[in-house]
Amino acid sequence: MHAVDRHHPIVESATLAWPDEAATQAFAQHWATQPALANAFVALHGDLGAGKTTLVRHLLQALGVTGRIKSPTYAVVEPYELDALNIWHFDFYRFNDPREWEEAGFRDIFASAGLKLAEWPEKAAGVLPVADVDLHIRTLDDSSRSVTLLAHTAAGQALLQGLQGATP
Ligand code: ADP
Ligand code: MG
Repeated sequence: MHAVDRHHPIVESATLAWPDEAATQAFAQHWATQPALANAFVALHGDLGAGKTTLVRHLLQALGVTGRIKSPTYAVVEPYELDALNIWHFDFYRFNDPREWEEAGFRDIFASAGLKLAEWPEKAAGVLPVADVDLHIRTLDDSSRSVTLLAHTAAGQALLQGLQGATP
């Protein structure tokens, strides 16, 4: 596991198998129904091509986002506004100036109500708050993924408990 996890107690963990992208989508559709998601910070770990952005796309679509969902690699963050939910999709791959945390308003975003999803949280480890859930995606082959979820908060624990019985 990544160093970022070791610093924060794990209150609940789960492992899942996503044998194909349809399984990833089914997970996203189920998570989208969970009330605890509305205010959660989910940190997405995994190598390039693991499926972080793909999961976010399925999750945003399941939550009702229509239209194109861009990968925020260059912008660092893409915001989405739904009627009852604000969502921010971060990709910290190119984040290298901690001053940007204040200047770009990221601190304010993390203090706001809404769903925060972050790819490459390792690149902003010094400034990011503790994630409700650290979700690690590991590539097994072209379509199959092994997933570990670590909850660090009560909200994260609720999100993991909501999975029971929903996915194999
Ligand atoms: P990352 O954001 O982690 O770099 P992407 O989501 O951009 O990765 O790319 C993942 C690629 O893997 C996509 O082309 C997607 O269609 C493919 N893929 C194949 N199987 C799965 C799966 N089970 N879950 C997620 N993505 C999958
Ligand atoms: Mg990505």
